[in-house]
Amino acid sequence: MRISHNRPDVRQADKDAVAAVLASGWIAQGARVAALEAAFVSMNGGGGACAVSSGTAALFLALHGLGIGAGAAVAVPSYSCSALLNAVNMAGARPVPVDVRSDDFTIDPASVESLAPDAAAVVAVHTFGASASVEDLKSSGRTVIEDCCQSLGGPQGLVGDAAVYSFYATKIVTGGQGGLVWDKTQKVAEAARDYREFDCRETYEPRFNFQMTDIQAAMIESQFGRLDEIRARRRTIRARYLEAAEPLMTAGWRLQDGFNEASHLPYRFVLLAPDSNARDAMKSRLECSKVASIVPIERFELLHRYLGVDPGRYPVSEMLADCALSVPLYPGLSDEEVDLVCDALRLAA
Ligand SMILES: *Cc1c(COP(=O)(O)O)cnc(C)c1O
Repeated sequence: MRISHNRPDVRQADKDAVAAVLASGWIAQGARVAALEAAFVSMNGGGGACAVSSGTAALFLALHGLGIGAGAAVAVPSYSCSALLNAVNMAGARPVPVDVRSDDFTIDPASVESLAPDAAAVVAVHTFGASASVEDLKSSGRTVIEDCCQSLGGPQGLVGDAAVYSFYATKIVTGGQGGLVWDKTQKVAEAARDYREFDCRETYEPRFNFQMTDIQAAMIESQFGRLDEIRARRRTIRARYLEAAEPLMTAGWRLQDGFNEASHLPYRFVLLAPDSNARDAMKSRLECSKVASIVPIERFELLHRYLGVDPGRYPVSEMLADCALSVPLYPGLSDEEVDLVCDALRLAA
Protein backbone atom coordinates (compact mmCIF):
# COMPACT_ATOMS: atom_id res chain seq x y z
CA MET A 1 0.00 0.00 0.00
CA ARG A 2 1.21 3.47 -0.89
CA ILE A 3 1.79 5.86 2.00
CA SER A 4 0.03 9.13 1.22
CA HIS A 5 1.68 12.44 2.00
CA ASN A 6 -1.10 13.44 4.34
CA ARG A 7 -4.09 11.84 6.02
CA PRO A 8 -6.37 13.34 8.63
CA ASP A 9 -6.20 11.38 11.89
CA VAL A 10 -9.88 11.07 12.82
CA ARG A 11 -10.43 9.06 16.01
CA GLN A 12 -13.55 7.62 17.60
CA ALA A 13 -13.62 10.47 20.14
CA ASP A 14 -13.82 12.98 17.24
CA LYS A 15 -16.72 11.06 15.69
CA ASP A 16 -18.51 10.92 19.05
CA ALA A 17 -18.09 14.67 19.51
CA VAL A 18 -19.57 15.34 16.06
CA ALA A 19 -22.40 12.85 16.64
CA ALA A 20 -23.30 14.63 19.89
CA VAL A 21 -23.66 17.93 18.03
CA LEU A 22 -25.79 16.31 15.32
CA ALA A 23 -28.06 14.82 17.99
CA SER A 24 -28.31 18.08 19.92
CA GLY A 25 -30.56 19.95 17.51
CA TRP A 26 -28.07 22.87 17.19
CA ILE A 27 -25.53 22.48 14.38
CA ALA A 28 -24.70 26.11 13.42
CA GLN A 29 -22.34 28.38 15.40
CA GLY A 30 -23.12 27.89 19.08
CA ALA A 31 -21.80 26.41 22.30
CA ARG A 32 -19.05 24.27 20.67
CA VAL A 33 -17.60 27.29 18.85
CA ALA A 34 -17.58 29.22 22.14
CA ALA A 35 -15.87 26.26 23.86
CA LEU A 36 -13.20 26.09 21.15
CA GLU A 37 -12.51 29.80 21.60
CA ALA A 38 -12.23 29.29 25.37
CA ALA A 39 -9.74 26.46 24.79
CA PHE A 40 -7.48 28.79 22.77
CA VAL A 41 -7.69 31.55 25.38
CA SER A 42 -6.65 28.96 27.93
CA MET A 43 -3.78 27.63 25.74
CA ASN A 44 -2.40 31.14 25.22
CA GLY A 45 -2.85 32.17 28.85
CA GLY A 46 -5.58 34.80 28.31
CA GLY A 47 -6.54 37.27 25.61
CA GLY A 48 -9.44 36.91 23.18
CA ALA A 49 -10.27 34.34 20.49
CA CYS A 50 -12.72 34.35 17.59
CA ALA A 51 -13.30 31.18 15.56
CA VAL A 52 -14.13 31.62 11.88
CA SER A 53 -14.55 29.71 8.62
CA SER A 54 -10.90 29.51 7.52
CA GLY A 55 -7.35 30.57 8.23
CA THR A 56 -7.60 33.03 5.34
CA ALA A 57 -10.68 34.63 6.92
CA ALA A 58 -8.80 34.82 10.25
CA LEU A 59 -5.88 36.59 8.53
CA PHE A 60 -8.22 39.06 6.82
CA LEU A 61 -9.95 39.77 10.14
CA ALA A 62 -6.59 40.24 11.93
CA LEU A 63 -5.50 42.80 9.33
CA HIS A 64 -8.87 44.54 9.45
CA GLY A 65 -8.95 44.56 13.26
CA LEU A 66 -5.44 46.02 13.43
CA GLY A 67 -6.39 48.83 11.06
CA ILE A 68 -4.28 47.58 8.15
CA GLY A 69 -6.31 48.53 5.09
CA ALA A 70 -6.35 50.82 2.06
CA GLY A 71 -2.95 52.32 1.30
CA ALA A 72 -0.97 50.08 3.66
CA ALA A 73 1.85 47.84 2.44
CA VAL A 74 2.08 44.41 4.07
CA ALA A 75 5.28 42.34 3.87
CA VAL A 76 4.62 38.66 3.21
CA PRO A 77 7.15 35.83 2.80
CA SER A 78 7.30 34.84 -0.85
CA TYR A 79 7.85 31.20 0.16
CA SER A 80 4.27 30.75 1.45
CA CYS A 81 0.78 30.37 0.00
CA SER A 82 -1.58 32.47 -2.08
CA ALA A 83 -3.95 32.69 0.91
CA LEU A 84 -1.72 35.50 2.19
CA LEU A 85 -2.19 37.50 -1.01
CA ASN A 86 -5.95 36.91 -0.87
CA ALA A 87 -6.28 38.09 2.74
CA VAL A 88 -4.13 41.20 2.23
CA ASN A 89 -5.95 42.13 -0.97
CA MET A 90 -9.33 41.52 0.67
CA ALA A 91 -8.32 43.95 3.43
CA GLY A 92 -7.64 46.54 0.73
CA ALA A 93 -3.92 46.62 1.52
CA ARG A 94 -0.97 45.92 -0.80
CA PRO A 95 1.04 42.69 -0.38
CA VAL A 96 4.82 43.07 -0.83
CA PRO A 97 6.68 39.75 -1.10
CA VAL A 98 10.02 39.46 0.68
CA ASP A 99 12.58 36.66 0.80
CA VAL A 100 13.05 34.00 3.49
CA ARG A 101 16.07 32.60 5.36
CA SER A 102 17.79 29.52 4.02
CA ASP A 103 18.32 27.89 7.44
CA ASP A 104 14.76 27.75 8.78
CA PHE A 105 12.76 28.95 5.71
CA THR A 106 11.00 31.74 7.68
CA ILE A 107 10.65 35.40 6.66
CA ASP A 108 13.99 37.25 6.58
CA PRO A 109 13.81 40.50 8.61
CA ALA A 110 16.68 41.93 6.50
CA SER A 111 14.65 41.31 3.36
CA VAL A 112 11.68 43.17 4.89
CA GLU A 113 13.98 46.19 5.34
CA SER A 114 15.36 46.03 1.80
CA LEU A 115 12.29 45.00 -0.23
CA ALA A 116 9.41 46.41 1.84
CA PRO A 117 10.85 49.41 3.74
CA ASP A 118 7.44 51.14 3.74
CA ALA A 119 5.50 48.11 5.08
CA ALA A 120 3.18 48.98 7.97
CA ALA A 121 2.64 45.32 8.78
CA VAL A 122 4.29 41.92 8.38
CA VAL A 123 2.75 38.47 8.19
CA ALA A 124 5.21 36.23 10.03
CA VAL A 125 4.57 32.66 8.93
CA HIS A 126 5.98 29.98 11.25
CA THR A 127 6.91 27.88 8.24
CA PHE A 128 6.34 24.14 8.67
CA GLY A 129 6.44 24.70 12.45
CA ALA A 130 9.76 26.61 12.70
CA SER A 131 9.61 29.98 14.47
CA ALA A 132 9.82 33.21 12.50
CA SER A 133 11.81 36.00 14.25
CA VAL A 134 8.80 37.86 15.60
CA GLU A 135 10.83 39.89 18.14
CA ASP A 136 13.13 41.18 15.37
CA LEU A 137 10.20 42.04 13.14
CA LYS A 138 8.44 43.86 15.98
CA SER A 139 11.53 45.88 16.84
CA SER A 140 11.15 47.72 13.52
CA GLY A 141 7.89 49.18 14.89
CA ARG A 142 5.70 47.33 12.41
CA THR A 143 2.46 45.56 13.20
CA VAL A 144 3.19 41.82 13.21
CA ILE A 145 0.62 39.09 12.62
CA GLU A 146 1.83 35.61 13.53
CA ASP A 147 0.59 33.05 11.02
CA CYS A 148 0.37 29.91 13.18
CA CYS A 149 -1.51 27.85 10.58
CA GLN A 150 1.40 25.38 10.57
CA SER A 151 2.53 25.78 14.17
CA LEU A 152 -0.46 25.10 16.43
CA GLY A 153 0.81 23.54 19.64
CA GLY A 154 4.27 25.04 19.27
CA PRO A 155 5.83 27.90 21.26
CA GLN A 156 4.62 30.54 18.78
CA GLY A 157 1.77 33.05 18.69
CA LEU A 158 2.19 35.10 21.85
CA VAL A 159 4.50 37.94 20.81
CA GLY A 160 2.88 39.46 17.71
CA ASP A 161 -0.11 41.81 17.60
CA ALA A 162 -2.40 38.90 16.66
CA ALA A 163 -2.10 35.20 15.79
CA VAL A 164 -4.09 33.27 13.20
CA TYR A 165 -4.73 29.52 12.95
CA SER A 166 -6.19 27.17 10.32
CA PHE A 167 -8.09 23.91 10.78
CA TYR A 168 -8.07 22.82 7.13
CA ALA A 169 -7.97 19.06 6.46
CA THR A 170 -4.17 18.84 6.22
CA LYS A 171 -3.35 21.00 9.26
CA ILE A 172 -2.30 19.95 12.76
CA VAL A 173 -5.87 19.63 14.01
CA THR A 174 -8.83 19.81 11.66
CA GLY A 175 -12.56 20.19 11.25
CA GLY A 176 -12.34 19.92 7.45
CA GLN A 177 -12.17 23.73 7.28
CA GLY A 178 -11.95 26.42 9.94
CA GLY A 179 -9.79 29.18 11.36
CA LEU A 180 -9.28 31.30 14.46
CA VAL A 181 -7.83 34.67 15.37
CA TRP A 182 -6.37 35.33 18.81
CA ASP A 183 -4.85 38.42 20.38
CA LYS A 184 -3.59 39.36 23.81
CA THR A 185 -5.58 42.62 24.16
CA GLN A 186 -8.85 41.02 22.97
CA LYS A 187 -9.35 44.05 20.69
CA VAL A 188 -8.67 42.15 17.47
CA ALA A 189 -10.77 39.18 18.56
CA GLU A 190 -13.67 41.49 19.46
CA ALA A 191 -13.44 43.32 16.12
CA ALA A 192 -13.46 39.93 14.37
CA ARG A 193 -16.49 38.86 16.39
CA ASP A 194 -18.34 42.03 15.42
CA TYR A 195 -17.51 41.40 11.74
CA ARG A 196 -18.63 37.77 11.94
CA GLU A 197 -21.99 38.50 13.64
CA PHE A 198 -23.63 39.91 10.53
CA ASP A 199 -27.24 39.01 11.26
CA CYS A 200 -29.93 41.06 13.07
CA ARG A 201 -27.66 44.00 13.89
CA GLU A 202 -29.28 47.30 14.77
CA THR A 203 -27.08 49.37 12.49
CA TYR A 204 -25.53 48.43 9.20
CA GLU A 205 -21.80 48.16 8.58
CA PRO A 206 -20.00 45.86 6.14
CA ARG A 207 -19.72 42.49 7.84
CA PHE A 208 -19.51 38.95 6.52
CA ASN A 209 -20.66 35.42 7.24
CA PHE A 210 -17.32 33.97 8.34
CA GLN A 211 -18.93 31.63 10.86
CA MET A 212 -17.76 28.18 11.87
CA THR A 213 -20.36 25.49 12.60
CA ASP A 214 -20.60 23.60 15.89
CA ILE A 215 -20.05 20.41 13.86
CA GLN A 216 -16.58 21.62 12.85
CA ALA A 217 -15.84 23.11 16.27
CA ALA A 218 -16.66 19.85 18.07
CA MET A 219 -14.24 17.90 15.87
CA ILE A 220 -11.50 20.52 16.21
CA GLU A 221 -11.99 20.74 19.99
CA SER A 222 -11.79 16.96 20.30
CA GLN A 223 -8.49 16.85 18.37
CA PHE A 224 -7.19 19.92 20.21
CA GLY A 225 -7.65 17.98 23.45
CA ARG A 226 -4.87 15.58 22.41
CA LEU A 227 -2.41 18.20 21.19
CA ASP A 228 0.32 17.02 23.58
CA GLU A 229 0.00 13.51 22.17
CA ILE A 230 0.06 14.87 18.60
CA ARG A 231 3.22 16.90 19.32
CA ALA A 232 4.95 13.92 20.96
CA ARG A 233 4.06 11.57 18.10
CA ARG A 234 5.24 14.03 15.45
CA ARG A 235 8.52 14.58 17.31
CA THR A 236 9.06 10.83 17.60
CA ILE A 237 8.51 10.34 13.86
CA ARG A 238 10.83 13.25 13.10
CA ALA A 239 13.56 11.73 15.29
CA ARG A 240 13.28 8.45 13.35
CA TYR A 241 13.52 10.29 10.01
CA LEU A 242 16.57 12.28 11.22
CA GLU A 243 18.40 9.00 11.76
CA ALA A 244 17.28 7.55 8.42
CA ALA A 245 18.27 10.74 6.56
CA GLU A 246 21.81 10.74 8.00
CA PRO A 247 23.43 9.23 4.85
CA LEU A 248 21.78 11.95 2.73
CA MET A 249 23.45 14.65 4.82
CA THR A 250 26.89 13.40 3.81
CA ALA A 251 25.72 13.49 0.18
CA GLY A 252 25.07 17.24 0.19
CA TRP A 253 21.48 17.26 1.38
CA ARG A 254 20.30 19.23 4.40
CA LEU A 255 17.23 19.75 6.59
CA GLN A 256 15.16 22.69 7.75
CA ASP A 257 16.49 24.09 11.06
CA GLY A 258 14.37 25.26 13.97
CA PHE A 259 13.03 22.21 15.80
CA ASN A 260 15.48 21.94 18.65
CA GLU A 261 13.20 22.89 21.52
CA ALA A 262 10.94 20.19 22.94
CA SER A 263 8.01 22.61 22.58
CA HIS A 264 8.32 22.76 18.78
CA LEU A 265 5.77 20.81 16.80
CA PRO A 266 7.15 19.68 13.42
CA TYR A 267 4.44 20.14 10.80
CA ARG A 268 6.56 18.84 7.95
CA PHE A 269 9.80 16.95 7.42
CA VAL A 270 11.46 18.78 4.57
CA LEU A 271 14.60 17.52 2.86
CA LEU A 272 16.67 20.01 0.90
CA ALA A 273 18.46 18.57 -2.14
CA PRO A 274 21.73 19.94 -3.52
CA ASP A 275 19.84 20.78 -6.75
CA SER A 276 16.47 20.28 -8.45
CA ASN A 277 17.58 17.19 -10.41
CA ALA A 278 18.55 15.42 -7.19
CA ARG A 279 15.23 16.47 -5.64
CA ASP A 280 13.16 15.15 -8.56
CA ALA A 281 15.14 11.89 -8.66
CA MET A 282 14.54 11.41 -4.92
CA LYS A 283 10.81 11.98 -5.41
CA SER A 284 10.74 9.21 -8.05
CA ARG A 285 12.79 6.82 -5.90
CA LEU A 286 10.47 7.34 -2.93
CA GLU A 287 7.48 6.74 -5.21
CA CYS A 288 9.07 3.40 -6.25
CA SER A 289 9.12 2.50 -2.55
CA LYS A 290 5.43 3.49 -2.40
CA VAL A 291 6.09 6.61 -0.35
CA ALA A 292 4.38 9.78 -1.56
CA SER A 293 6.31 13.03 -1.25
CA ILE A 294 5.43 16.54 -2.37
CA VAL A 295 7.13 19.72 -3.45
CA PRO A 296 5.71 21.87 -0.63
CA ILE A 297 5.70 25.07 -2.67
CA GLU A 298 6.24 24.96 -6.42
CA ARG A 299 8.13 27.70 -8.21
CA PHE A 300 5.00 29.08 -9.90
CA GLU A 301 3.34 29.41 -6.46
CA LEU A 302 6.01 31.75 -5.07
CA LEU A 303 4.23 34.99 -4.23
CA HIS A 304 6.67 37.21 -6.15
CA ARG A 305 6.02 35.10 -9.27
CA TYR A 306 2.24 35.48 -8.88
CA LEU A 307 2.78 39.24 -8.63
CA GLY A 308 5.26 39.40 -11.51
CA VAL A 309 8.14 40.75 -9.41
CA ASP A 310 11.78 40.14 -10.46
CA PRO A 311 12.76 36.63 -9.21
CA GLY A 312 16.38 37.79 -8.80
CA ARG A 313 15.41 39.48 -5.53
CA TYR A 314 14.24 36.17 -4.02
CA PRO A 315 17.20 33.80 -4.29
CA VAL A 316 16.31 31.73 -1.21
CA SER A 317 12.61 31.30 -2.08
CA GLU A 318 13.63 30.26 -5.61
CA MET A 319 16.18 27.78 -4.25
CA LEU A 320 13.64 26.27 -1.83
CA ALA A 321 11.06 25.87 -4.60
CA ASP A 322 13.69 24.01 -6.64
CA CYS A 323 15.20 21.83 -3.93
CA ALA A 324 12.69 21.15 -1.11
CA LEU A 325 10.89 17.84 -0.77
CA SER A 326 8.40 16.96 1.98
CA VAL A 327 7.87 13.37 3.15
CA PRO A 328 4.84 12.03 5.09
CA LEU A 329 4.78 13.24 8.73
CA TYR A 330 1.49 12.96 10.61
CA PRO A 331 0.31 11.22 13.78
CA GLY A 332 -1.92 8.80 11.86
CA LEU A 333 1.16 7.01 10.46
CA SER A 334 1.50 3.55 12.00
CA ASP A 335 4.89 2.35 13.33
CA GLU A 336 5.10 0.06 10.29
CA GLU A 337 4.53 2.98 7.95
CA VAL A 338 7.22 5.02 9.72
CA ASP A 339 9.60 2.05 9.27
CA LEU A 340 8.72 1.94 5.56
CA VAL A 341 9.45 5.65 5.10
CA CYS A 342 12.77 5.22 6.93
CA ASP A 343 13.69 2.24 4.73
CA ALA A 344 12.74 4.21 1.63
CA LEU A 345 14.93 7.15 2.72
CA ARG A 346 17.91 4.84 3.34
CA LEU A 347 17.37 3.05 0.04
CA ALA A 348 17.15 6.32 -1.86
CA ALA A 349 20.35 7.76 -0.38
C1 LIG B 1 -3.31 26.79 5.49
C2 LIG B 1 -2.61 28.08 5.63
C3 LIG B 1 -3.30 29.31 5.49
C4 LIG B 1 -4.73 29.40 5.08
O1 LIG B 1 -5.63 28.68 5.87
P1 LIG B 1 -7.02 28.17 5.24
O2 LIG B 1 -7.75 27.62 6.43
O3 LIG B 1 -6.70 27.13 4.22
O4 LIG B 1 -7.71 29.35 4.66
C5 LIG B 1 -2.59 30.48 5.69
N1 LIG B 1 -1.28 30.47 6.00
C6 LIG B 1 -0.59 29.32 6.14
C7 LIG B 1 0.86 29.36 6.50
C8 LIG B 1 -1.22 28.10 5.94
O5 LIG B 1 -0.51 26.96 6.07
